[in-house]
Amino acid sequence: MGIAHRVVSVLVLPVFCVSFAHGQSQTKSEGALEGIASGKTRIIDLSYAINDKLVAWPGDPRVFEATVNGTVEKDGYFTRSFWMLEHYGTHLDAPAHFPPGKSTVEKIAPEKFFGPAVVLDVRSESAKDADYQLSPAVIEAWEKRNGKIPAGAIVLLRTGWASRWPDVQRYRNTDAKGEMHFPGFSAEAAKVLLERKISGLGCDTLSIDPGNSKDFPVHRLVLGAEVYQLENLRDLSSLPEMGASLIVAPIKLEGGSGGAVRVFALVSK
Ligand SMILES: [Zn+2]
Repeated sequence: MGIAHRVVSVLVLPVFCVSFAHGQSQTKSEGALEGIASGKTRIIDLSYAINDKLVAWPGDPRVFEATVNGTVEKDGYFTRSFWMLEHYGTHLDAPAHFPPGKSTVEKIAPEKFFGPAVVLDVRSESAKDADYQLSPAVIEAWEKRNGKIPAGAIVLLRTGWASRWPDVQRYRNTDAKGEMHFPGFSAEAAKVLLERKISGLGCDTLSIDPGNSKDFPVHRLVLGAEVYQLENLRDLSSLPEMGASLIVAPIKLEGGSGGAVRVFALVSK
């Protein structure tokens, strides 16, 4: 590391500490990352482990396969190769997933993968109506309590649907006609969130659009604005509606329409 780099680190580090120190219990000298070792910061893993039994989007006969290539007994080391869909399990939709000419997964600016988590809780609405679409009024109410959604936020829709995982029938909630029913964002709400200059949008269901959507208007709007999406996030119940920081780490797959993602929430105790 050269002198120039060192100067940059000194300048950047305090900003990093402050931006990650949302909790009242943390001082400027101890940010969220330092708080991990001292136990003041809790890490919540929002990704499912990947295997061949996860709830996939309907239609793909092959979703995941892993093959053992080397064993310790035979080869002296253990390795596998694997094959999987880009959109399987907890995954990121890159902007190129829908509108042509947008960023593939490796081209998303890394700055967009770190940000404050804004949690919109619609568990009671979703329990009453499986086709519930996020009302802009929920965003309005959130902002009344917490202030305007900051630029760079990663907005998560907490529907409670993760409690149905990994039961395929209950999670997809498919009716006799083959139509799925689970809650999602509405185009109206997505427009409001895009005005806030958010970095990403996420949900604890199979899709950002509600299950009964035919033309995926939220995908078109959000990805068209170069904002990525996170789908099939794990249980969001322990996240505060404001105050957690997110680290989003997708596979850096060249040319990918998306891919497996590890998402961590840092929550100050
Ligand atoms: Zn997807």
